[in-house]
Amino acid sequence: MHVSTSTKEKRKYDKLNACYYCERLCTDVRKHLVMVHKKEKDIQLLESKPLRSKERGLVLEKTETEGKLQAQLCSSPKGTWRTHAS
Ligand SMILES: [Zn+2]
Repeated sequence: MHVSTSTKEKRKYDKLNACYYCERLCTDVRKHLVMVHKKEKDIQLLESKPLRSKERGLVLEKTETEGKLQAQLCSSPKGTWRTHAS
């Protein structure tokens, strides 16, 4: 009996976020960003904001959204993964 896993494969992107910088998929991208990419401009900006501040949330949201967009691009056959200059 064959059970297609394609639906499950797609759903992965609901829980995993792609890192904006290194393309890695992780469940806790916020933690990953701060741990691994603390030298990046956006993350330094983020770190300069007080914990739980509105600005901090906005910066995180931006990086998360961009990561998600990239994950979607990656999952489409003609998507271009590297849209940002590294
Ligand atoms: Zn990363």
